[in-house]
Amino acid sequence: MIQRFRIASLILIHILILLHIFYWGDSKIGSVDFQEFFHSFLKLGKINAGVLLVIISFVFTLIFGRFFCGWACHFGAIQELAWLALKKMNIQPKTIDSKLVTFLPLFILLHLYIINNLFFAINLPWEMSVKINEPNIWEFLPGYIIGTLTFIVDGFLIIYFLGRKGFCRFICPWGAFLKIPNSLALFKVRKTGTCTNCHNCTASCPVGIDVNYEINNFKKVTNTNCTSCMMCISGCPSSALSYSYANPLKEKVSLTDYLPTKDKISEINNKHDYFKSIRHLDWIYLLLIFVFANSITNLYGIGDFLAYGIAIICSFIIINNKINLKILKYTLNGLILIFFIWHALIKTNIYFGSHNYQGAPTILEKTTRIYAEKMNLYR
Ligand code: SF4
Ligand code: SF4
Repeated sequence: MIQRFRIASLILIHILILLHIFYWGDSKIGSVDFQEFFHSFLKLGKINAGVLLVIISFVFTLIFGRFFCGWACHFGAIQELAWLALKKMNIQPKTIDSKLVTFLPLFILLHLYIINNLFFAINLPWEMSVKINEPNIWEFLPGYIIGTLTFIVDGFLIIYFLGRKGFCRFICPWGAFLKIPNSLALFKVRKTGTCTNCHNCTASCPVGIDVNYEINNFKKVTNTNCTSCMMCISGCPSSALSYSYANPLKEKVSLTDYLPTKDKISEINNKHDYFKSIRHLDWIYLLLIFVFANSITNLYGIGDFLAYGIAIICSFIIINNKINLKILKYTLNGLILIFFIWHALIKTNIYFGSHNYQGAPTILEKTTRIYAEKMNLYR
């Protein structure tokens, strides 16, 4: 029953988005985008619809958990659909277990949204204002081609390579932001009955949380990726779980419950077969993802989400390339590396071309020869 409500909520939110676009346009409510909290409020002191969304969601999450992600987010819904579609095709990717799940979204949040906007605000003091109808609802959205590619890469392909909710777990900076109030939420999934260790809850969690391990070790789900979707509760045949309140002053809370500790790693990977650990290679992944993403972002209009999605998938292909025929394997890896090195060169040239005015014509002239997009602006 509860899942019907959740699906109804996701459908209703999408109807509201369409109504916003076609009926109200920008005349009353501007872009309802979480980025606004950073680009408008943190940077300029401007309050708009996106800023209000973030403040309301933050307070709501402090009490009820990350409902927004499980009950309202269109990107989360698409990833759940992708998982179901793969299941229908008898494809069951393993969910990737990595410490990057904790650190990469946080890094993206700090790097792309917090540090630069804070730096701007410190240098140019705020002028507080309230502008609910700003900015335009399309202001931060990419065009049709890049938008569609972003949905394909971050909504579908990433599920095939990284398992359940790959985008939410590895990239989403909004999720990283809500992890803070989620860790303190008053309502959580808790163990309130006898568990028979059937693992149904772990199997049904759309975010790839080892629910069985968490509730038996901490008496509740402490993983801050939990989106309060209640699928583990609905899937438990022994009614051992409930979504319930606990007085935070009486709760036993330990920071280690929330960190990716060694204990969790061995438990997760020894108990069953839902996860594949890449923890021993985390640093190599991090380095590749960072270099790959930064070599293509902003080229051809590629936004950060698409760049990180492509970077994660390509890093995964290179490190996990299991093609038996060696020539094919090395050719594929080589082509991926050439693609990123090529674009890193273009980005470096554009950077030096825009910061070295005397040498700029020569540098940019060279760049136009290797960059597939026309560079009239620079010319
Ligand atoms: S732990 Fe339970 S409530 Fe949380 S995301 Fe997983 S299935 Fe949903
Ligand atoms: S589904 Fe219920 S009984 Fe089975 S492992 Fe999870 S909590 Fe225990």
